[in-house]
Amino acid sequence: MAFESLSEKLQNVFKNLRSKGRLTEDDVKAALKEVKMALLEADVSFKVVKEFIKAVQDRAVGQDVMSSLTPGQMVIKIVNEEMVRLMGSETTEIKLKPSNEITVIMMAGLQGAGKTTTIAKIAGKLKSKGRKPLLAACDIYRPAAIQQLQINGQKQGVEVFAMGTSHKPVNIVKAAVEHAGKNGFNVVIIDTAGRLHIDEDMMNELIEIKENVNVDQTILVVDAMTGQDAVNVAGMFNDKVGIDGVVLTKLDGDTRGGAALSIRAVTGKPILYIGMGEKLSDLEQFYPDRMASRILGMGDILTLIEKAESEVDKDKARELEQKLRKAQFGFDDFLDQMNQIKKMGGLKDILGMMPGMGAQMKNLDAIDDGAMDKVEAIILSMTPKERTNPDILNPSRKNRIAKGAGVDISEVNKLVKQFEQTRKMMKQMPGLMGGKGGKKGKF
Ligand code: GDP
Repeated sequence: MAFESLSEKLQNVFKNLRSKGRLTEDDVKAALKEVKMALLEADVSFKVVKEFIKAVQDRAVGQDVMSSLTPGQMVIKIVNEEMVRLMGSETTEIKLKPSNEITVIMMAGLQGAGKTTTIAKIAGKLKSKGRKPLLAACDIYRPAAIQQLQINGQKQGVEVFAMGTSHKPVNIVKAAVEHAGKNGFNVVIIDTAGRLHIDEDMMNELIEIKENVNVDQTILVVDAMTGQDAVNVAGMFNDKVGIDGVVLTKLDGDTRGGAALSIRAVTGKPILYIGMGEKLSDLEQFYPDRMASRILGMGDILTLIEKAESEVDKDKARELEQKLRKAQFGFDDFLDQMNQIKKMGGLKDILGMMPGMGAQMKNLDAIDDGAMDKVEAIILSMTPKERTNPDILNPSRKNRIAKGAGVDISEVNKLVKQFEQTRKMMKQMPGLMGGKGGKKGKF
């Protein structure tokens, strides 16, 4: 899978950031320098990296971030947001006309980029959406290309319109569109000639088709394995012929993946799909946000940060932080924490979103969401003094509390034990709830 090395490097940078309670400007700059190196090594274009780092830095060294409860996470969040923006933010679909009209899609790309395969993949997707696609074989220089399109078309159950190798591509396209009109097809996908290198004849052929036929979408197929070459090819095609979007193939391979991050910035055109394998079903819609998560290796951590930001009461978190520092964390705070956790979707949800935390928190399994109510009843049966000074809880007090809450004394003992564990754990979790203690905390 692409991005493995980039992802690993970025995760290391972030781990360092997260382990620091407070961040200085120099910390952020040093981290961003490492991000920059990692992106360059992943073959992201230099200009793109430079602009990206500047954008992140401008936002990340501001007062808001530095003084926030969780500066490390804020920086990571900014990196994520800028990465999504770099890739175009929105998911872009191939634009299709209404079903009663014919949409003409011209596919272009260098030989070997994966054009023929991608055409069949797209045709399959359109078919499953209820469209009736027709493939037009216009690579008249390679009889094998026509044959391959026919084989792939057959696999997808999609008709291929071919006129051999002796007609001009533009005329084949015209005939294909006419054939489509007469036979109820509503999408014509043109397979154009691929060359080993960009040359003038190739460009002129594409321009000629565009000038003579109403092409609705021009889509370029580029091979992610070729890295910055893929980006340069996209730039050139866009300048000369004009493209509407890009399909980036072979992202399943052992590629460094940088093209995915550069194409939008260099060409201004979106990536529509990514090729994730040789099978005709291996074509994925391109989601900038999911791709960024994949690259940053953070999965749902982002969702968690967002939840924590929107749901957790910041004043309470600050207050708690102070208490933790002074070791004044009591049962009332425990209750508050439980309510915060409930607001964030329950303990199990949170555990699920925190890779690496599961094992560390296993001993808290007993506090499942249903048991939370029981815990609440026990705490509410304590006197205020007992809540702030749990150390005074002797057996007779515990007995009274158990009776008040209508539970067995063993439940009270269990809770007191869990409380001690939580107190310990809170100190190891810098960031999430406002604690700043932990060198050991992974979050
Ligand atoms: P064309 O010359 O541009 O038409 O390229 P082809 O469609 O013939 O593809 C060239 C090679 O790349 C073939 O072996 C395909 O199976 C392979 N290929 C195409 N797309 C992908 C992809 O997304 N992943 C992988 N792993 N291989 C791909």
